[in-house]
Amino acid sequence: MRIDQEKCSGCGICIPYCPANAITIVNKKAQIDEDACFECGNCSRIRVVRCPKKAFFEQPGLYEGTRAARKFFSDPMTTHSVTKIPGRGTEEVKTNDVTGRVVRGQIGIAIEMGRPCLGTSMEQVEKMTSALGTLGIEFEEMNPLTHLMDDREKGTIKPEYMNEKMVSAIIEFGIPVSQMVPVINVIKDVANKLDTVFSLDMIYRFEEDGSLPIVPVLEDMGIRVRKNSKVNLGLGRPVVTR
Ligand code: SF4
Ligand code: SF4
Repeated sequence: MRIDQEKCSGCGICIPYCPANAITIVNKKAQIDEDACFECGNCSRIRVVRCPKKAFFEQPGLYEGTRAARKFFSDPMTTHSVTKIPGRGTEEVKTNDVTGRVVRGQIGIAIEMGRPCLGTSMEQVEKMTSALGTLGIEFEEMNPLTHLMDDREKGTIKPEYMNEKMVSAIIEFGIPVSQMVPVINVIKDVANKLDTVFSLDMIYRFEEDGSLPIVPVLEDMGIRVRKNSKVNLGLGRPVVTR
């Protein structure tokens, strides 16, 4: 993102809308710290109603190369060609009752790096993916982050993307219930080494008797479980029934 210095009045209205704190006023003009900028587009989208000078613009060519990953992982209005995969993750947590991909005995896991609020860098993401790689995790094929790995078995990110930053990046994979404890232990260990935050999502199907047996195990490990559910209104037909 860029600010037209000729148009900018230095009013500062745009500053609180930037999640990366990348906009500052220098010599009575707003400037963007390009290294900090996530390319989320917030400032651009508010220009019609907020920026009185319509000073924001996207410089042609800025999103070619690895910087495109910032925009792709940060701007929900963008569909980009870097990974060839739409969105920041799959929609399993929302549609599993229809697709049936996470079956009984399995847990679908999504680690939303940078959420809430702080954002993340690929360097931070790789701390988590490479640690999970030691457990033989098979990262989700349909997740765009997986396509930025140079070694999916080790969970390492392509070196050229390591300096990129974004609002969030979602690490997705599925595991058998038997692997939950070692995976959670690795996640907790990495959490102590991160410079950002993350949200941990776990997808698990209720047992026939309505119980969720993984919950007490997680609570014993110090994980406070906040249950959420998605309700199928019957408009979708399950593809897989198990
Ligand atoms: S809102 Fe527009 S005019 Fe005001 S400081 Fe930001 S870019 Fe400049
Ligand atoms: S694109 Fe997003 S991160 Fe970059 S300056 Fe604008 S609001 Fe801030």
